[in-house]
Amino acid sequence: MIVVLTGAPGAGKGTQADLVRDRLGFRKISTGDALRRHVSLGTEIGKKAASIMESGRLVPDDVLLEILNQEIGADPKEKILLDGYPRNIEQAKALASIGGVHKVAKAINLDVDQEQLLVRLTGRRVCKQCGKSYHLAGKMPKNTDSCDACGGMIVQRPDDQPERVKVRLGVYANETRPVLSFYEGIKALVTINGNRSTEDVFDEIKKQLG
Ligand code: AMP
Repeated sequence: MIVVLTGAPGAGKGTQADLVRDRLGFRKISTGDALRRHVSLGTEIGKKAASIMESGRLVPDDVLLEILNQEIGADPKEKILLDGYPRNIEQAKALASIGGVHKVAKAINLDVDQEQLLVRLTGRRVCKQCGKSYHLAGKMPKNTDSCDACGGMIVQRPDDQPERVKVRLGVYANETRPVLSFYEGIKALVTINGNRSTEDVFDEIKKQLG
């Protein structure tokens, strides 16, 4: 069974996906994380994706399909949480057909105000090594320059810079938002108010996942 976690960049998908993995036993597949791994390993996929990701635009659908095919296994009972896929209608259709034994049981949409998205994205800092997320307005590591979890260097993601954030929010509005109607059409869409605390949002996701 597949659960899709969707929402604008900065809506908190990554944070919630980690909680769903750790507390509800889902396997998390994050296409953004998978692509960043390819970039840092310098694979063919990474070479194709690096500059596109940095600009804030979407990596071509065929590259994503390749990643998805590598990541999704054959066990229909496995509980999979997709973070960051699908990001356009073509990807939603591809997922419905490659799903095969897997079915998209639910698409959970985290709805967050535009102003809040900007604050979250431009203030976000991440560990270069393990990807752990921090924020300038409060949640920074004890030693500002190194990660609490692994000691890695704390950096700003290149695509979190203000001009790139604008591009990403535009891409979301034009290409990803229509995916909501797709899932509404198959009665799989649930929208959650994501402006609240991490724990409150997680509680609601947990209720939805039974
Ligand atoms: P994320 O970490 O989910 O914000 O993704 C970072 C970047 O990776 C995005 O801005 C895109 O360039 C790329 N990316 C991640 N997932 C997808 C996807 N499903 N389709 C196309 N590009 C993606």
